[in-house]
Amino acid sequence: MHPMVKPALRRAWRSLRCVQFGITPAHAVVVSPVDPGTGELLALLDGTRGTELLRAEARARGLPDGHLEALLGRLAAAGLLADASNGRPGKPGSGAGSGAAAGAAAGAGAGATVRDPLRADLASLSVVHSEPDRAVRTLAARRALRVQVRGAGRVGAMVAALLSAAGVGTVEVLDSGRVEPWETAPGGLPAEAVGERRATAARRVVRRWARGGTRAGPTGGATGQGDGRGSPGLSLVVVTPRDGLGAYVPDPVPAGPWITTGTPHLYAGVLEATGTVGPLVLPGGTACACCLQEELTDREPVRPRLLAQWRSGAPHPLPACDLALATAVAGLATAHALAFLDGDLPASTGARWEVSLPLLEWRAERLRPHPDCPCGAARGGEGERASAAGSAQDTMAG
Ligand SMILES: [Zn+2]
Repeated sequence: MHPMVKPALRRAWRSLRCVQFGITPAHAVVVSPVDPGTGELLALLDGTRGTELLRAEARARGLPDGHLEALLGRLAAAGLLADASNGRPGKPGSGAGSGAAAGAAAGAGAGATVRDPLRADLASLSVVHSEPDRAVRTLAARRALRVQVRGAGRVGAMVAALLSAAGVGTVEVLDSGRVEPWETAPGGLPAEAVGERRATAARRVVRRWARGGTRAGPTGGATGQGDGRGSPGLSLVVVTPRDGLGAYVPDPVPAGPWITTGTPHLYAGVLEATGTVGPLVLPGGTACACCLQEELTDREPVRPRLLAQWRSGAPHPLPACDLALATAVAGLATAHALAFLDGDLPASTGARWEVSLPLLEWRAERLRPHPDCPCGAARGGEGERASAAGSAQDTMAG
């Protein structure tokens, strides 16, 4: 082991005996008291020294036997410890069998591969997760994941690109028709894709951003055709319909197979200058599209009549979609998706975040499972939510 204090967190002394790692309240940690000898030892924990050498350094400073181990224990308990040897390709037990993952460990410090494009992401994961090797394992696990993005408009194409760029191994994109000029966006479908099949264009974007062996679908490319059913092996479905109505008022019919197969799915979209991220549906654990529809009908009995009119006829020929709003929605939706895929339950779990132009104040609405919905979430409660989170982690580990 080459112990080091996570380099992603800035270090500042609050007093002679009290040191703060990190700045923002979400992840900052204060370590106190720190005597001068320990302070000197702290400065040596940069991942360049093995434990034997560090023990010798501690002895040279007159620190008693066991002092180093006690310090490492304190740092580990505070979530501040990382192992630089994890980031060295070829090291046994690094858990990073792939070159990309091993190189990606660069973000953690000494064994760094400075050209790794996911180095900053790894550093971010090291801030989020307290276990010393969790960041490396998490990034490596993303390569085994398979995510389906349904809808390749501004939001969907960008979500697919971001997931691919973030190291998700397989990103499938389902859509039909051809790219319209107003669907292009920086980070999404490029201008030269206008007139091309949406699925083909999205596949190229996914491939372009693939990191070290990322695949763009089971057939070597983002799939353009889908049977609409939840297929086994999917870690997550991201529902990003080009007409944001399908995200704002999720349709229970296409969601049916995802509920049956227990496939987690996340809705995101832009509808008439309002952007939404969520809900993330954990089947049987949190409110689903059908729960939502039942709940809204209870609240507003005229709802089914409105819905029938909104959904009737051909899709809206030109859905309103602000470029910057679509980009924000795509970015946030992808962050929620990644948090879930990495084993956490983000704030969109059973809730929807909504933002409208021009004031852009994000607000959240918790969505209650409906007792009449066959998905059973109303009877499941927190226990099932927790088990659904567990299955996400199982997927990650597999
Ligand atoms: Zn339901």
